[in-house]
Amino acid sequence: MKKIQMVDLQGQYQKIKDVVDPAIHNILDSAAFVNGPMVHEFQKNLENYLNVKHVIPCANGTDALQIAMMGLGLEPGDEVITADFTFAATVEVIALLRLTPVLVDVDKDTFNINIEAVKKAITPKTKAIVPVHLFGQCANMEAIMQIAEEHNLYVIEDNAQAIGANYTYSDGTKKKAGTIGHVGATSFFPSKNLGCYGDGGAIFTNDDDLAHTIRGIVNHGMYKRYHHDVVGVNSRLDSIQAAVLNAKLVHLYTYGKARQRAAKRYNDAFKNETNIQTPVTVSSSCNSICEQCDCHVYHQYTLKVKNIDRDALAKYLNENGIPCGVYYPIPLHAQKAYADERYNEDDFTVTNALVKEVISLPMHTELDDEQIEYITSKVIQFING
Ligand SMILES: *Cc1c(COP(=O)(O)O)cnc(C)c1O
Repeated sequence: MKKIQMVDLQGQYQKIKDVVDPAIHNILDSAAFVNGPMVHEFQKNLENYLNVKHVIPCANGTDALQIAMMGLGLEPGDEVITADFTFAATVEVIALLRLTPVLVDVDKDTFNINIEAVKKAITPKTKAIVPVHLFGQCANMEAIMQIAEEHNLYVIEDNAQAIGANYTYSDGTKKKAGTIGHVGATSFFPSKNLGCYGDGGAIFTNDDDLAHTIRGIVNHGMYKRYHHDVVGVNSRLDSIQAAVLNAKLVHLYTYGKARQRAAKRYNDAFKNETNIQTPVTVSSSCNSICEQCDCHVYHQYTLKVKNIDRDALAKYLNENGIPCGVYYPIPLHAQKAYADERYNEDDFTVTNALVKEVISLPMHTELDDEQIEYITSKVIQFING
């Protein structure tokens, strides 16, 4: 059996090496390292793939979130609602811009931002909601967009974990994750579903004016060379990363299928285990296994365990050569940097429980049946003592 890895980037690279290597060499030969034609080509291809008017590449996913918020003109003191159960980057940029983060609880099954909690958190100072499409599945965007419309709020999608996923509306229409809100942000960090070989990110929007504003912000606030109209940042995708992304974008759909296939194998193996909750997919056109509708692209395959010592399970898997992860072990409202007297523990019952129950198993495009069988047998062995 091949060594099991949480993410198998070497295995994936070997299969596309014959395309990626010459693409990188072309960049070396052209010496157009920053903002070269390849960045533009990738941008156009991604716009087509996502069916969105504007993709603005930038240096990483954290920048993408920050720049999206800057582009919307959010100001210090504005309240921004986001999920308590996510990677810290989401809340970090809110705090960094001196906006006021308002963390709210998530759903116990999808792990995505809870709609009732969002409604409850709205005040006259609320300016934006940042749903995070956690682990590869969209938050309830239909409800979120409706709340945003009612209260005149911006919606910034943190799509770092769900690129390529579809969101299905109740009437059956579909849109790609990240293209539903006023603006979306994504990351091309190597381990993400569309990852480059360094850092990278992008901002998506269908709004022409916002796209123009953001194109200036990523480039020192310049709309005309050496005329700085607004305070900007330096956040660029380099041409080598764009070449890698361009070579991988054509595989994004099949990469998603490989992840869904692995998820289905896991689900099948665990279906009789009453103490394990396998990932729950929520989509009007999808009933639990998501191979047809792409509502879940399994950035992570995350189990929720009951009546089981989660940390002991993680240790047992590690001892048996199976890497695993706990995303995330601490709620954001309990992190030193983001703790606040405003928060009440009773408002975070789901997140407070999830941090003790979740465990993510190896999930990537190169997992084979033998590996999955070994992993699932070890999990079941541990549970049944
Ligand atoms: C990875 C990630 C980010 C940040 O992306 P970077 O490219 O690492 O800056 C933001 N939000 C979420 C949910 C992520 O998973």
